[in-house]
Amino acid sequence: MTTYIAVDIGGTRMRAASYSADSLTPLKIDRIKTRKVGSPPEERLIKLLGRIWPEADPVAAIGMTAPGPLDPTTGILVKAPNIPEWIDFPLADYVNQHFHVPVLLGNDANLAALGEWKFGAGRGHHHLLYLTISTGIGSGVIVNDSLLVGAHGYAAELGHITVLPDGPICNCGQRGHLEAIASGTAIANWVKTEIARGIPSSLTVIEELSAQTIAEAAQQGDQLAQEAFQRAGTYLGQAIADFLTVFNPTIVVLGGGVSLSYDLFSESLQSAMRQHAFDENYLDDLTITLAELGDDAGLMGALALARDGHC
Ligand SMILES: [Zn+2]
Repeated sequence: MTTYIAVDIGGTRMRAASYSADSLTPLKIDRIKTRKVGSPPEERLIKLLGRIWPEADPVAAIGMTAPGPLDPTTGILVKAPNIPEWIDFPLADYVNQHFHVPVLLGNDANLAALGEWKFGAGRGHHHLLYLTISTGIGSGVIVNDSLLVGAHGYAAELGHITVLPDGPICNCGQRGHLEAIASGTAIANWVKTEIARGIPSSLTVIEELSAQTIAEAAQQGDQLAQEAFQRAGTYLGQAIADFLTVFNPTIVVLGGGVSLSYDLFSESLQSAMRQHAFDENYLDDLTITLAELGDDAGLMGALALARDGHC
């Protein structure tokens, strides 16, 4: 029986699983902390793969998802946030030299989009836009049944489009990007600024503000907290209107921790999207929905990559 391996590498942990050719139920699955003193992450990855490697059945390919800029055509990881050991690291080659099977690499948000498209909320669609809104904003785009990767794998970084030129500094160093306005971190930063300005809120007594604590306050009627989500929704809707113009998807899939509070910003998102849409035709058969695969989206995307042999 031919098998496939999927790997999801994150800054905190990495997961790997083996699958048969036609099932989504792993034959074996395991996880390990990505970093540990005295144990380089690449050696930990090989150890993890050894644990889930099929005993007798041949492995046809390994699909891997990793954070940060990476080039899927060369398999080189340019830079991984939270894994400082890996700078211009030839991740695909390194794993291939140990196991001698094809190794395919994809960006985490791109492969989460692939996972949601193949196995999750986007099944059956041919044109999909995926946004994951958590501490940052990641994205992936399926156009004409293909994942958009671009010349060096850097396409569809939709969290880093400018929505407010004089806005706050983004994690990437630029100013006014969508991620700096509408991510979970940005929502918390905005609330902190408003509280510092003297705007009343039940959140003034909370020391560690996060999108989650703000969502809880919003659910209990806190006006500032509600406004924070509505504001993020407005910028997201405005940006999605632009994305519709570029990609013309039939489905927008929202993932990530902030999307779990979609009821707090769905109205402002949809209203801004309609207001800024270039033409009503973009909205006619458009579905906006929540992701289905949760934390498994990346792993499922890596599996799709291994089985298909390309993005
Ligand atoms: Zn940015």
